[in-house]
Amino acid sequence: MSVVQPLLGLQEIDNRIRELQREIRDIPQRKDQEQERLKGAREVLERVHSELKNAQLRVNEAELEIQARRDKILALKKNQVLLKTNKEFQIYNLEIAKLDGEIDNHEARQLAAMDDLIPVKSRLAEAEAKLKDDQEIVDGYLSELDERLVSVNEALAVAEAERAEAVKHVDPKALLYYERLRTKRWPVVVNLQHDGVCNGCHLVQPPSVGQMVRRKQGLVPCQMCGRILYNVE
Ligand SMILES: [Zn+2]
Repeated sequence: MSVVQPLLGLQEIDNRIRELQREIRDIPQRKDQEQERLKGAREVLERVHSELKNAQLRVNEAELEIQARRDKILALKKNQVLLKTNKEFQIYNLEIAKLDGEIDNHEARQLAAMDDLIPVKSRLAEAEAKLKDDQEIVDGYLSELDERLVSVNEALAVAEAERAEAVKHVDPKALLYYERLRTKRWPVVVNLQHDGVCNGCHLVQPPSVGQMVRRKQGLVPCQMCGRILYNVE
C-alpha cells in the first residue's frame, strides 16, 4: 500500500473537520445578521412611538391650558361677589369672557390633536404587528441555526473519532510531515498534474520528481511548497 493513500483518507476527514469548524465559527455571525433584519421594523416602531408621544403631549398641553383658565375664572367669580362697584363687576365679566374665548380656542386645538392621535395609533398597531411578524420569522431562523449547531457539533465529534482511527493507518513519519504542513498549507496532499505541475503552488517539477511520484517511492514533496505529491490513478 502506498504511503499517500492513507494520507488522502486522513485529508478527506480533515477537510470535513475544517468545514464543520468553519460553520461553527460562522453561526454566531449568521445569528447577528438575522437580528439585524429586525432593525428596520424597530426603527419604524420607535418613530411612530415618538409621534404618538408628541400627539399625546399636544392633547395634554391643551388640557392644562384649559384647566388653568377654568381655575382663573373660578377665582374671579369668587372675588366678584365681594366687589363694590358695577364698573369693577363689568371688568371682571370682560376678563371672564376673554378667558372663556381662550378656553374655546384651546378646546378646538385639543379636539384637533385628538383627531391626530387616531391615525398615529393605527400606524403604531401596524408597526407593532410588523415587528412581531418579523420577530417570529427571525426566531424561526435562529432556532434553525441552533439546531444546525447541535448537528454540526455531532458531525464534528463523529469526524474526530474517524480521524483518531485514520491516523493509526498512516506511516508515522508521513503523519508527522503532514501534521506540520497542514497548519501552513491546505490541502497538504495534492495531485501532480500530467504536465508535471504541482496542483498546490503550480510550480513545474523536475522530471525526476514525476518519476518518483509515479513509482510511489515514499513521500515526494513539491520542490516549492513542500506539499505531498501524488498521481490520480
Ligand atoms: Zn507545490
